[in-house]
Amino acid sequence: MELYIAGGCSEHGRNAFLVNSGSFSFLVDAGIMKEKPEVPWPQLSDEQIRGASVLFLTHSHADHTGAAEWLIGKGFSGIIAASRETFRMLPAWPVRTVCLEDLGGPLEITDFFPGLKFLWGRSGHCVGSVWYLFCAGGRSVLFSGDYQEYSAAYRCDEIRDYSADAAVLDCAYGYEKEDARVHRRQLSEALDAFALKDGPLLFPVPSHGRGLDVIRLLEERGIPVMADTSFEEEIRDEHIRPMWFSESFLQAVSGISILSLTPVKEAAEKNDTSLMQLVSGRKGILVKDSQLWDPADIRIAEAVLAAGGNVVLTGKQDPAGYARKLYDEKRAVFCRISVHQNAEEMMRLADKNRFGRVIPYHCRQKLVFDRDNVFVLEAGDRVEL
Ligand SMILES: [Zn+2]
Ligand SMILES: [Zn+2]
Repeated sequence: MELYIAGGCSEHGRNAFLVNSGSFSFLVDAGIMKEKPEVPWPQLSDEQIRGASVLFLTHSHADHTGAAEWLIGKGFSGIIAASRETFRMLPAWPVRTVCLEDLGGPLEITDFFPGLKFLWGRSGHCVGSVWYLFCAGGRSVLFSGDYQEYSAAYRCDEIRDYSADAAVLDCAYGYEKEDARVHRRQLSEALDAFALKDGPLLFPVPSHGRGLDVIRLLEERGIPVMADTSFEEEIRDEHIRPMWFSESFLQAVSGISILSLTPVKEAAEKNDTSLMQLVSGRKGILVKDSQLWDPADIRIAEAVLAAGGNVVLTGKQDPAGYARKLYDEKRAVFCRISVHQNAEEMMRLADKNRFGRVIPYHCRQKLVFDRDNVFVLEAGDRVEL
């Protein structure tokens, strides 16, 4: 078995890995690298693309799926496999697709085709996100996908006691010191302090992911939540609930009623003077615009600040976004919600399994490990397993 890194190691974006068993090959993820427009696509030849029989997707985010259409344009005609919820968040593609849930449940072994077996588990990163363990020709390789065991919202089937010749593991936070549990405590403490005040709190969050963690923490403190109705729809969705949300999350939000953001959004779009009054008071407001690109969301942020409130950022900031501008001007606070692992968490995960080689991915920092079995690779590298 050969593992070829087409992207995602020692860089951020275009996550894509090609596994060649000798008799067939398959891809895990096909992402786009937005921050480097000169090399947006995975480093794959036409031959590698046309030769791949399956593209397994870990989850819907663009750094894992944004090159799927490009692959198809380049002649990929295999099957795309992903969880049902991942497909629901993505456009329809003109190739055969297979939902993982139709093959088997989490941690069940699937005989996918002669010579290829795999199992998948939920990775705790967002609705629909999974990790994979593949076995072919007596060799095995694990991909954690974007992975976090301490999400306040999502289920994670912890990767434990597995053997694999190689494991490609989420190490997105690199040398950052604090781990997910510390981050959760820091955000909880910040919310406790904010909860004593009367002002509004604004959370710019992505469409899928951290928003639900925020909603849970607000609900637990009795702070009213104002957000897009899609959040409540997701929480109430009978297909998503049991499969993707943790029991403690469902319990915490069981009685929640989310205030509609629509009047605020409409006032912001019209630049109406009523905006300030609409955002005022003790509440947590979520906008699905993590970088604050939308002028209406920028107006909401300014109204929240003018009403004596706070803007709370919880994830990576784009240097060009308004969220970053507010942070640089010390008008926004940053409390991370972990949706990935740092290097220490990655090593702890590796130590709970038996992996011949550990290959960190999702981190653009130049990482150095003092372990013989950790291989810091980059796009274009190959490993014989
Ligand atoms: Zn992701
Ligand atoms: Zn990612």
